[in-house]
Amino acid sequence: MVSAEKHDTWMGLALNEARRALATEDVPIGAVVLGPDGAVLGSGRNQREELGDPTAHAEVVAIRQAAERLRERALVDGGQADGWRLSDCTLVVTLEPCAMCAGAIVLARIPRVVFGAWDEKAGAAGSVFDVLRERRLNHWVEVYPGVREAECAVLLRDFFAGHRSRL
Ligand SMILES: [Zn+2]
Repeated sequence: MVSAEKHDTWMGLALNEARRALATEDVPIGAVVLGPDGAVLGSGRNQREELGDPTAHAEVVAIRQAAERLRERALVDGGQADGWRLSDCTLVVTLEPCAMCAGAIVLARIPRVVFGAWDEKAGAAGSVFDVLRERRLNHWVEVYPGVREAECAVLLRDFFAGHRSRL
């Protein structure tokens, strides 16, 4: 599979996660972390309302799960992996990461990010800030924006339209 096809397929997984957030009245944003072999290491959805946690963004939830899984594997193998360093992984998310999530992506040393819709108000991957490609940091990320952008954006637009109509 060429990478554009892979990105489309992976975004489908992130979109499924995003839809699950609707059950808890959370803004529908979903993310997955793929390992070097393309296997899903972690997945997450926005759970801010469900958990009452302002940091429970889809990317952070997915990164935590992926790091946990890598750590378990490292313990089983007795290997050298530290568990938290998500080298060679790809993070796929339906909305452009915010400053917190972009920071977490840099801290996890994730080399590649694929995202769907742009967030003109708070995006930190090119819209408002560009934390992922900030030259003053020691880690740069390859960014693939606009993957299945329309589907990701419609999900959010419908969610907010539904909320407005209930006011
Ligand atoms: Zn975020």
